[in-house]
Amino acid sequence: MNFDLTDEQKLILSVVDETCQKIRPIEDRFYLERRFNDQVLPIFKEAHLLGFPISRSYGEGQGADALTYALVLERVGREGTGIRTFFSGHVSLGQSTLQKWGSEEQKQRYLPRTTSGELIMAFGLTEPTAGSDPASMKTSFEERGGSYYLNGQKAWISNGSIADLIVVFAYPKGKSEGMCAFLVETEAEGFSAEPIKNKLGLPTSDTGLLYFNDCRVSRDNMLGPPGKGLSVAYTALMSGRLSVAAGSVGVLQDCLDEAVKYARERVQHKKKIGKHQLIQREIAKISLDLESSRLMTYKAASLKVKSDESPDNYELRAEADWWIAQAKYYAANASFWAADRAVQIFGANGFSFENRPARHLADTRACRIYEGTDQILEQKIAIKLLGSEFEAFS
Ligand SMILES: Cc1cc2nc3c(=O)[nH]c(=O)nc-3n(C[C@H](O)[C@H](O)[C@H](O)COP(=O)(O)OP(=O)(O)OC[C@H]3O[C@@H](n4cnc5c(N)ncnc54)[C@H](O)[C@@H]3O)c2cc1C
Repeated sequence: MNFDLTDEQKLILSVVDETCQKIRPIEDRFYLERRFNDQVLPIFKEAHLLGFPISRSYGEGQGADALTYALVLERVGREGTGIRTFFSGHVSLGQSTLQKWGSEEQKQRYLPRTTSGELIMAFGLTEPTAGSDPASMKTSFEERGGSYYLNGQKAWISNGSIADLIVVFAYPKGKSEGMCAFLVETEAEGFSAEPIKNKLGLPTSDTGLLYFNDCRVSRDNMLGPPGKGLSVAYTALMSGRLSVAAGSVGVLQDCLDEAVKYARERVQHKKKIGKHQLIQREIAKISLDLESSRLMTYKAASLKVKSDESPDNYELRAEADWWIAQAKYYAANASFWAADRAVQIFGANGFSFENRPARHLADTRACRIYEGTDQILEQKIAIKLLGSEFEAFS
């Protein structure tokens, strides 16, 4: 493997870095006020950074491959999981899914407006009673008078109450097979949404509850072939999980930077705390977790690049999917524990949201739940090694 950045990657990352520096003081303020950061969109929009992995044929799409996009999300992740989660919902789960499964007409109709930031996307799979087992979902659709009508609820949807266009999954009415995916415009009759309050973390990210009450969807807005909803969802989760892994690497980097800085300054027992060997051990552990997470994420992203280049190669896709699951699981857990170690190094100051480690500790907890919980991914990783007859989900 070659670990050198190309000149193009360096250029992209310098623009992303500049934009991230602009967003940091704003995110700091919104975090302490515990409210949705509505400046992420205009700031990234102005920098034309909302369509990295989307083909240049669609508006401001930049045609970046999965590895380059992972590098971008790593940098964004340093600013916090809330900001990165916005990108996961809008780009990784929303736009990328539309790019992969949409008809040319759907892509022309929506992608340019999503890459410019005029339309925000979200991805609605989870329901109040269907999370790890999406096949048990209840949302249904029926076709009447040339349109589809959706009924049901979706819960815990990132960007859900701010989105303009949502990828939504539903079964034909009265059935529990033949799931379909739809592009739902949130201006449609029968759609409503509200933000979820009192979350443990991610106060600056929108997480919505969605209601479909005979919500009308145009006949042109089924996404992918009829009955292929689960395949649409699973390929979306590959992009989504990679985005979580990459963002978690960014969090690990930020925890390391913060911990080193604090340990160099704070004095106890007449020494900089960085001279205490037990503090050095904590710093070493964060660094080891950072570098291992980074390597796994880059390997997973490199496999996704290859898989994207050969979309009909099922084996390559399964290999990329497995590595992405491992990278997401490993980096999400490593970032959570790195945040915990950084809080410990900060002592009581670590217990305040005024300091970044506390925010990372609260926010990274979500990464072990969304896009496949720890338990689901542990089983997915093991089943590949044991053989499909050990499949636990059927
Ligand atoms: C902040 C946030 C943002 C989110 N964003 C989105 C989004 O944009 N779009 C979207 O569709 N969803 C989103 N989700 C939902 C998320 O994907 C689900 O929460 C997740 O899939 C788990 O589902 P659940 O919460 O219903 O838990 P459940 O599935 O009810 O699981 C409860 C517990 O049981 C365990 N469990 C379940 N099945 C098994 C099994 N077979 N073996 C062992 N243990 C098992 C789980 O691991 C978990 O510990 C988001 C969630 C959060 C917290």
